[in-house]
Amino acid sequence: MSDRPPELTLADQAPANYECRSCGYVYDPSKGDSKTNTPAGTPFEELPETWRCPVCGVRRSQFINIGAKDAPSGFQENLSYGFGVNRLTPAQKNILIFGALALGFVFFISLYGLN
Ligand SMILES: [Zn+2]
Repeated sequence: MSDRPPELTLADQAPANYECRSCGYVYDPSKGDSKTNTPAGTPFEELPETWRCPVCGVRRSQFINIGAKDAPSGFQENLSYGFGVNRLTPAQKNILIFGALALGFVFFISLYGLN
């Protein structure tokens, strides 16, 4: 019906990180790679064919897309809703959720300390 491109989350729009399947090295486009003189901001897709893993030397084809690491997981227009929780990255949400669970568990255990 409409010509609008499919909506992407911020995580989809951010340049993806790629992980070496051989050694676990992660190529972060926002940092580039100093060992191979790759300037920060170079997407993995634009690395030369000759680019190799700076740690173990395997080819580009051995890298897998692990998605953007630090982008919020929601849509841009939703960021101001929900007390700012929507601005959190997935990792921060995990800390919030499991931190709250751990805190609740500590309170529960502390009940045993009551006489
Ligand atoms: Zn590697």
